[in-house]
Amino acid sequence: MGIRKIDVTLCNGCGICVDYCPMDVLRMDDDNNKAFIKYIRDCQSCFLCEKECPEEAINCLPVFERRIPMAW
Ligand code: SF4
Ligand code: SF4
Repeated sequence: MGIRKIDVTLCNGCGICVDYCPMDVLRMDDDNNKAFIKYIRDCQSCFLCEKECPEEAINCLPVFERRIPMAW
């Protein structure tokens, strides 16, 4: 997981982050027209959403979840 937060007070509802996300993590909320994180576990920390957001509303961290294989 890389994306941490979308600041809804900054989000202008443009939908750019949803279009750019290659992993289909983000969605627009029909009720308030703000972006939200729908499938956080699919995030690959590519930073495209954070980079492309015109309002700097998205915060990502370069953190990947890694599963450590168990020894038999
Ligand atoms: S790119 Fe930024 S401003 Fe546009 S919908 Fe996404 S979070 Fe909101
Ligand atoms: S960091 Fe990349 S994969 Fe994760 S939500 Fe943003 S655009 Fe999608």
